[in-house]
Amino acid sequence: MEPRNWPVPVIAGNWKMHKGPEETRAFFEIFCRAHAPRDDRSVWFFPPALSLHAALEATASRPDLRIGVQHIHWEDTGAFTGEISATMAYQAGARLTLVGHSERRQLFGDTDEAVAARTVAALAAGLTPVVCVGETLEQRKGGALEVVLARQLDTVLAALQVGRAETLLLAYEPVWAIGTGVNATPDDAAAAHRFLRTRLRERAGGPAAAAIPILYGGSVKPANAAELLAASDVDGLLVGGASLDPESFARLADTPAP
Ligand code: PEP
Repeated sequence: MEPRNWPVPVIAGNWKMHKGPEETRAFFEIFCRAHAPRDDRSVWFFPPALSLHAALEATASRPDLRIGVQHIHWEDTGAFTGEISATMAYQAGARLTLVGHSERRQLFGDTDEAVAARTVAALAAGLTPVVCVGETLEQRKGGALEVVLARQLDTVLAALQVGRAETLLLAYEPVWAIGTGVNATPDDAAAAHRFLRTRLRERAGGPAAAAIPILYGGSVKPANAAELLAASDVDGLLVGGASLDPESFARLADTPAP
């Protein structure tokens, strides 16, 4: 197991399909001036894969900023037009990957089993996976929050070798909160995170439950970041839309942590 060499909280920006290489360079010119390195937190970015190189170049003098990809295939090579493998992403300089983002699940048919296979491939290639889980509004209203989270988490954990779980992160991202402007309340986030932590303890053991940071994602912005970060069991934030503006994301990345 690789030792965790980065501090929590983790504040991560998922750029989705925004910013090509040019916009990426322009973003980091401003962001790196606005956000000084800190050793009490980690600041991570998930640009589109085609902008990975530009992001790595633009942050070459900032080892405090880590860069990843948004999605990987579970196979190493093969006839999978349009896909990239975890090994390729690592070779290109990525050290992190999102896995199972709800947009991949909802728009591109990612199943729990595919998410588990991607997680295994990420770990095998040396990428740290941020595994996203979360319920739809219908599932929450129907009382299925815990059933859904348990199913999504258990499928990933069942695919991992003993001791591997410690090296991943989870992101609780309620689907109804992503890109909608409606964030979970700190109490809602804390309840879901508490459930995930307990499930981790039951299924992967105490060391894994203690080691795995659980990020909250879903309409985080500078105005609500502090209260969400202060919620119990919230070890960081995964930020979509509000990570695109370098000055405002620099402020968000400096949100006081409890
Ligand atoms: C996301 O894309 O992971 C996300 C949480 O998006 P937003 O912050 O825009 O809701």
